[in-house]
This record gives sequence, structure tokens and C-alpha cells, in this order.
Amino acid sequence: MKPLTLLIKPASGLCNMSCRYCFYKSASACRDNIIMSYDTVDLLIQKIVSFQPSALTFMFQGGEPLLAGIDFYKYFVSSVRDSVRVPVSYALQTNGLLIDDEYAGFFSENGFLLGVSLDGDKSVTDRNRSDNNGRSVFDRVMNSINILRSHSVDFNILSVIDDESVKETEKTYSFFKDCGFSFIQFIPCIDSESAASISMTAYESFLKKSFDLWYNDYIQGNYISIRHIDNYLSILLGMPPENCAMCGFCGNYFVLEADGDLYPCDFYCDSLNRVASLSDEKPFEINDKHRAFIDESKVIHNHCRKCRYYILCRGGCKRDRINGYSENRYCKAFYSFFEYAGERMLSIAARIKSE
Ligand code: SF4
Ligand code: SF4
Repeated sequence: MKPLTLLIKPASGLCNMSCRYCFYKSASACRDNIIMSYDTVDLLIQKIVSFQPSALTFMFQGGEPLLAGIDFYKYFVSSVRDSVRVPVSYALQTNGLLIDDEYAGFFSENGFLLGVSLDGDKSVTDRNRSDNNGRSVFDRVMNSINILRSHSVDFNILSVIDDESVKETEKTYSFFKDCGFSFIQFIPCIDSESAASISMTAYESFLKKSFDLWYNDYIQGNYISIRHIDNYLSILLGMPPENCAMCGFCGNYFVLEADGDLYPCDFYCDSLNRVASLSDEKPFEINDKHRAFIDESKVIHNHCRKCRYYILCRGGCKRDRINGYSENRYCKAFYSFFEYAGERMLSIAARIKSE
């Protein structure tokens, strides 16, 4: 028996926001924007039961997954509860606009971990994120975060960084800290088709500045969780990183689109990379097409083979490698960052080990 991780897109690419950098605006990511039906949920549970996983992780994502409506989630969770007898965990990534007391109460009761998208303070967030009428969402998202807090829902913050926001790394970090956000994930905006993106030099600068800020807090006993730094420390402590983009190869997980099709990664939900469908007899057995997708990510570029930092970097996410297996487009940024922060990361890892 193996664990099964499913990233589910119940509202496909549908969204009630219109962010400048949205990945779904690029033609390659277009999907039919439909809401997952209860029949598809039933079929999913049936296939899970016959797969007999040892544990289950459901991660809901979009577009905006809350557009599926609270009844969808109630149906989903009660169907899982009725049929599945293994440990189950739930996570959901949202832009926060639709969160209300009912949703927050439901998430709290069912142990959901939420990711809320917020790039920084009002001026940083408003530069790239707005609703479909072009209005600021900042106050509404902050209000939603207060609702989550009032229901004791665990959440982290997801901030997308681009060339402009990197100039305000310090301000963004301080803002998150002042708000008491202690679990943060920064994602570089790499989509070249997007209106916002991040250059090599800006990314390098971000990695260094954010590390300095994090480090200064850490040595004063104030630990803030920043996902990529946590993962580097895990590696140095001999543990596997939880982020597939830092493992050196793609993960054995599935993305389930609203129509029941399965893909190997959220960044590859297109007809070329469709690996299975829930209507297949054994959709969760990794088939040849899925295996080939993962194997491609295991090809190590010559530069990486010789690189003293390969153990930490592992060549990065396949999406950032030109053609999937060439050199990573941010190689120079990573290398320079490791030269800059490697010793300090090693000393912190040694300190954690000795505690
Ligand atoms: S392409 Fe990147 S994000 Fe997708 S599965 Fe591979 S490593 Fe993970
Ligand atoms: S820093 Fe560059 S060469 Fe070194 S492992 Fe990372 S991508 Fe490869």
C-alpha cells in the first residue's frame, strides 16, 4: 500500500480575480472552465477505495477552488468519511475572496490547512492582483484572514514575486511579520507570457535579501517559516524536501481536473500531458506516460553533475529547465545564493542537530 496525493481542481481554471501574472491566461494552460460534478467525486472515491492507499492527501487548487461552493466541499468530505478508512489530510489554496464564517467553520472542523494568496502590503498586492472588475482585493483578503483566525484555521501566505516586488522585499517581509504571518511561501513569477515576471538578477537579489532577513530573525530566536529555506535546511539535516521542485525530480502525484482527467503536475495540465482519466480501470497506477514525465526530470545536466551545490539545489523544478532537462534558467541565481548563504545555512543546520 502506498500513500496517494491528489491535487484537485474542482473549479478548473475558473477565477473571480484577474491577476496580471495569472498562469491561466496563457494559451497553453487553457482548460474548459467547469465545476466538478458530484458524479466525478463519487467516481474518484470509488477509484481511491479500489487503489487502497495507505494514506491520502487532498490539496484543492484552482483557478479559485472555492468557486465550487461550500456544498461541494461538504459533499466531498462526507463522502470521504463514509468510504475511506485511512488517514486523510486536506489543504486548499485560495485567493481568499469567498471566505466567510461558514467556510472558515467548515475548514476548522475538518482540519484543512489553507494557503492564502497575498503578495505583500496593499501597494505591493494591488500592483498585480485585482478582482474581475479591476478593484483592489487587499482589504477583503485581510478580512478573510481575520475570519480564518477567529475560527483557528491554520493558514500560510503565498506571495508571488516579480521584478518590481523584489525591490520591496524588506517591506514585504516586515509587513508579513507585523501581521503575525509566520508561514510564508514565495513563488517566483517565471511565466514569460505573463505581464509580470522575474529576471535572474532580481531572483538572485530576492534569495539573498530574504535569507538575510530570515537569518537575522532566526539568530535572535524569532523563527519565521519560509518554505524554500525550510526545505534547504531539511536537506542539510538529511531529510527529504517536501517541495517536489527541490527534490531533483518530479513527484509521484496526480492533478485531477474538474472533468476527471489526470495530469502529472499542475504546470502541465494540457492535452499533451494528460496521463489518465478517472474512468480508466486503474487511474492511480503510474503508467508509462506518467513514468516518462517523471523520468525526464531525473536527467541531470552536466553542469549540475559537477556543481558543488547539487546536493542542495538538485537542478530545481523541471518547469524551470529549458526543455525539461537542460540547465535551470535560474542556475546563476541559485549558485550565487548558495555561495552567499551556504555557510550560514550549514551552521544553522548544525545548531538544530545539536539541540
Ligand atoms: S515540474 Fe516542477 S512542480 Fe511539477 S512535478 Fe516536476 S518538479 Fe514538481
Ligand atoms: S546551482 Fe546550477 S549547476 Fe548547480 S545544481 Fe543548481 S542548477 Fe545545477
